[in-house]
Amino acid sequence: MVKKEHCKKCGKELTPDEIGATKKLVNRGAAVYYCLDCLAEAFEITREDIEKKIVYFKEMGCTLFQ
Ligand SMILES: [Zn+2]
Repeated sequence: MVKKEHCKKCGKELTPDEIGATKKLVNRGAAVYYCLDCLAEAFEITREDIEKKIVYFKEMGCTLFQ
C-alpha cells in the first residue's frame, strides 16, 4: 500500500506525478506536497506548464517519476 499524500494547501489527494512535481520544483527532500493547481499558483505558471514538465522529466528517465 502506498501512503496517501494530500496537498498542503487545499487538501486534495495527490497523484504520484504531483508528488514528483513538488520534489522537482520545490526541493527533492520536500516533506510536504502540493497539487498541480497550487504549485502552478505558487510558481506563477500554468497547470499545463507543469504537466509538460512532468512529461519531459519522464522522457528524461527522472527517477522521481517512476
Ligand atoms: Zn492544492
